[in-house]
Amino acid sequence: MTARQHARRKVAAVCRRLAKAYGPVELGERGPVLDELIATILSQNTSDTNSHAAFEELSRRFPDWDAVRRAPVKRIAAAIRRGGLADQKAPRIKTILRAIHRELGELSLEFLRDVPPAEAMEYLTRFDGIGPKTAACVLLFACRKPVLPVDTHMHRVSRRLGLIGPNVDAARAHDELPRLVPPRLVLDFHVGLIRHGRRVCKARNPGCEECPLLDLCDEGPRLLERSRPA
Ligand code: SF4
Repeated sequence: MTARQHARRKVAAVCRRLAKAYGPVELGERGPVLDELIATILSQNTSDTNSHAAFEELSRRFPDWDAVRRAPVKRIAAAIRRGGLADQKAPRIKTILRAIHRELGELSLEFLRDVPPAEAMEYLTRFDGIGPKTAACVLLFACRKPVLPVDTHMHRVSRRLGLIGPNVDAARAHDELPRLVPPRLVLDFHVGLIRHGRRVCKARNPGCEECPLLDLCDEGPRLLERSRPA
């Protein structure tokens, strides 16, 4: 068996174990693609609670995206202050809305649902402030395309499991991990690893002792040994 085949098997086993541990992954209703893009920009470098609050406040203060496009940056920043980095995110959002309106003549990204994943990624990542993770989140959650976003939890847990090398950075992980995850498992793998990274495989003091992935994990036995009293 090649190393890649071995890693793919491990990915499938990880998905099965995590579904058993945390329950199946269920998605809610699909919202408009543009809503998901703005929500994902607001979620950059902040908690879910704060980014949801920022999105709610933005929706409360502006009747639609066209009103946001026409508003002064200061008013947008004031509305999203709770989400953090408002002075960076507000001009970013306004610039993106203006560009979409200029290019498409309307404020809608629904066409992305019918575009092949690679083309849709290319379209979104042209905008300043939209990297591969943000673009992949939009395509996975709003368009249900099998595009894998790699966040900090996924990067850390994948490295510990040995799916990517110890020196693979986040940018390279975005290239390497999708090769190991078949389209049907992309959502389960993404959500499963985030759940696991938040609850058990934390950055500091991972809970290897109670981990359902211990026998699949390259790093776990070493971490466990190190945590035992001498
Ligand atoms: Fe993370 Fe430890 Fe589980 Fe490995 S065994 S996935 S390092 S918690």
